[in-house]
Amino acid sequence: MSVRVRFAPSPTGNVHIGNIRAALFNWLFARHAGGKFLLRVEDTDRERSTDEAIRTLLACMEWLGLDYDEEPVYQSRQTARHVAVAEELIRKGAAYRDAKGGGGECVIFRMPKEGRIEYTDLVKGTIRKKAEDTQDFVIVRSDGTPVFHLANVVDDVDMAITHVIRGDDHVENTFKHIELFKAIGAPLPQYAHLPMIVNNQGKPYSKRDGAAFVGEFKEQGYLPEALFNFLLLLGWAPGDDREVLTREEMVQLFTLDRCKSSAARFDIKKLVWMNGEYIRRQPREVFAAEFVSRVRAAGLSTEGADLAGIMDQMQIRTKFYSEIPASCAYFFTDDFPFDAKGVEKRLKAEGVPELLDEVAEKYAALPAFDLQSTHDVLAALGEARGTGLGSMVHPVRVAVSGLTEGPGLFELLVLLGRDKVCARLRQVARRLRDGAL
Ligand code: GLU
Repeated sequence: MSVRVRFAPSPTGNVHIGNIRAALFNWLFARHAGGKFLLRVEDTDRERSTDEAIRTLLACMEWLGLDYDEEPVYQSRQTARHVAVAEELIRKGAAYRDAKGGGGECVIFRMPKEGRIEYTDLVKGTIRKKAEDTQDFVIVRSDGTPVFHLANVVDDVDMAITHVIRGDDHVENTFKHIELFKAIGAPLPQYAHLPMIVNNQGKPYSKRDGAAFVGEFKEQGYLPEALFNFLLLLGWAPGDDREVLTREEMVQLFTLDRCKSSAARFDIKKLVWMNGEYIRRQPREVFAAEFVSRVRAAGLSTEGADLAGIMDQMQIRTKFYSEIPASCAYFFTDDFPFDAKGVEKRLKAEGVPELLDEVAEKYAALPAFDLQSTHDVLAALGEARGTGLGSMVHPVRVAVSGLTEGPGLFELLVLLGRDKVCARLRQVARRLRDGAL
């Protein structure tokens, strides 16, 4: 039997990461098994499932590379079929009509009255419930519209779905669904319920906790590959300590027995780190195109700069493309802003102007201006003053770059070149004395 799985979102205009994670797990499961990954748009709520909401959903899937097989199924177009199945269930005695509150008759599905309902979840193990703890439930409302449970199961039957992989908020519904499958006389799919994504307090992760929708991550500059990888690790692990995996590795390694059954904590720091890892691993020409276009868009000229050397340094530490060019403008212009806190902490200290002048003088006199020699000058000064290298490095960094963080200081100095470094050190010393910084 070949694998057929589906992603069955109810479009609302925003795609929550919990939903798209279900898509991702289904996609990987299908691609691993060489089966089919189908899309079913559960658009029965016509108010929320606007064309715009559906477009947003499709765009998110495309952005993440979640390509589907076969034409998407739109649930709202299957209503007649859902109602016909309900009629059939009435004929079989598995459902009955009931006038609830006089608003017309609805159709109610009969749940078993004794024994228990049990299923083996591929992630959560055996899940069971006593029949006496279940209740008959509505499958067609008095206005003739089918209820979620009926539509969901009938569509799964019609689409010949073999595995239902979805969030564990559906664990309870599954008892109802299993009984519906049995009453229809269709083979049961296998179920895999994915653990909930939670915040630091262990509560369901929601928009109150930060970005929760795919579109927000896109806007904030996350790469789709990084978000994909991050979402995969929310509930799955490759079985070793690897965290960054290629799409091929994911497909090759993805099995449901590697899914975790306990809640998955959303750790934004990890996503930021992951994004940086993906930027770092991008082919140089991809990084270069993005880098140069952002630098130029800010009106900066790359002429005369050691662009390759600068990109070597920036590619390994850029977490978001949106940081560029603010994180490295000083390489391309002398007119760069100074970080106010950095100035306060590192430059407005006793003796800093004198120190900067002295460093400039020593640097100007070096036979060669390289990693070792620029380091040794500061180390010797630190030793002579009894303050150590650290208290030399910080003021020099802020003076030549305006920033408190960046590439290793000596790499940065060599990339800037002796002339710029000495001129900036002297100018900052002068501005500090004049109270102009
Ligand atoms: N539309 C339902 C949801 O988004 C479908 C659940 C399922 O995958 O069966 O929660």
